[in-house]
Formats: sequence, C-alpha cells, structure tokens
Amino acid sequence: MSIASNLKNIQTILPKHVTLVAVSKTKPISDLQEAYDAGQRVFGENKIQEMAEKWEKLPKDISWHMIGHVQRNKVKYMAEFVELIHGVDSVKLLKEIDKQAQKYNRVINCLLQLKIAEEDSKFGMTPEEVSTLLCSEELLQLKHVKIIGLMGMATFTEDIQQIRKEFKFLKTTFNKLQQQHPKLEIVSMGMSGDYQLAIEEGSTMVRIGSSIFGARNYTATN
Ligand SMILES: *Cc1c(COP(=O)(O)O)cnc(C)c1O
Repeated sequence: MSIASNLKNIQTILPKHVTLVAVSKTKPISDLQEAYDAGQRVFGENKIQEMAEKWEKLPKDISWHMIGHVQRNKVKYMAEFVELIHGVDSVKLLKEIDKQAQKYNRVINCLLQLKIAEEDSKFGMTPEEVSTLLCSEELLQLKHVKIIGLMGMATFTEDIQQIRKEFKFLKTTFNKLQQQHPKLEIVSMGMSGDYQLAIEEGSTMVRIGSSIFGARNYTATN
C-alpha cells in the first residue's frame, strides 16, 4: 500500500472532529513529501533536530508537532516554527518554551502529558499535578505558552480492556479539568495500534506513524 492510500483509508474512518498527526519520525523527506502531496499538513516528530531539518526542507504550510520527550536545551531549535508540543510535563520546561517563544514573538501551544500507563514510564504528570500547574501563579506569568489540552500514551500491551481503561482515565481527567479551564480543547491519544479505541473513548487527536509510513527501521542513530 502506498502512503497516499494509507492516508486516505485512515482519513475515511476518522470522524471530522479528530485531527490526524502523521508521525514521520525516522522517515525520509521523500515519504513526508508524498504524504504532503496527498494533502496531509500535520506531521509529528519525536526528535527536535530531525524535525528542524525536515522543516527547513519541506513546504512552509506544514504544521509541525513535537510528540517526543523534550530536552530543555533543545527547545531553541524548534521555537521558531513548532505548532504544538505534546509531551510537556513540568513548569521548568514551560518556562524554557516561553523564553524561546518570546524571541520569535510567538505563543506556542502545549499539551500536558498525563501518566496513564501502568508500566514504569518516566514521563507524565498525575491529575493533581496537572491541576496544580493549571492554577499556578507561575503559569500566569508565561505569556508565550498556551496549554490547550492533554496527551497520554497507553501501556504497550495486547490487553484491550487495559488500554481502554487508560484512555477513559485520560478523558475523564480532561473533562474535569475543562470545567475550570475552558481553554483546554485537545485530547491527544491513540497510535496505529489503538487509535480506533482512543476515538471511541473521546480522543480528538490521533498520532499515527506505522499505519501510514510502514514500520520504522531503527538504526543506531535513532
Ligand atoms: C512513534 C509515536 C507514535 C506513532 O506510533 P505508531 O505506532 O507508529 O503509530 C505516536 N505517539 C508517540 C508519542 C510516538 O512516539
């Protein structure tokens, strides 16, 4: 199957309110160009420098999403162009994003990463931490970042009930927070293996890589 037909197949089953982020990490420019030519405009990458290189080479109407864990010292390489940062998990990181966005006179949209998986992943906040951050004085000082939703990654498992439970937890947390923070609008959850489940549980943004571009071939450098 070609990239264009994979995209088309996915787009036909996605409800209108769900945004498709085409996850192009490790893939060559030619693959991204093919997706672009098929109409795709939102791309997700998990390495800042790789994303910056692709941004330089590809058409400027692409919306670039950083979906990986962000190292603070690399925020400067994407501040000029990144549209949405999915995996924000601390005030410290938000401060750096704010500082770098200010240099370009931009406001950078961010999602807070909620820890939903049971496996011992290092990243993600608890609902209490998210709530505290959203109400904090510190956040009010940051004029160049805007938190517009939550992101989560389910446990890597075949157990559908487990995955469903984790997505439900993300959506329920989102709904509670949204009552006090109406600016929250995005629920980023679902990947190639579980996006239909994620949509059933209320996802508004899915991040799909291998079902569009094929399996990734990891080498020592990625
Ligand atoms: C790689 C990645 C994806 C896409 O994974 P696929 O299984 O290839 O669809 C989605 N989200 C994040 C955070 C990723 O790192």
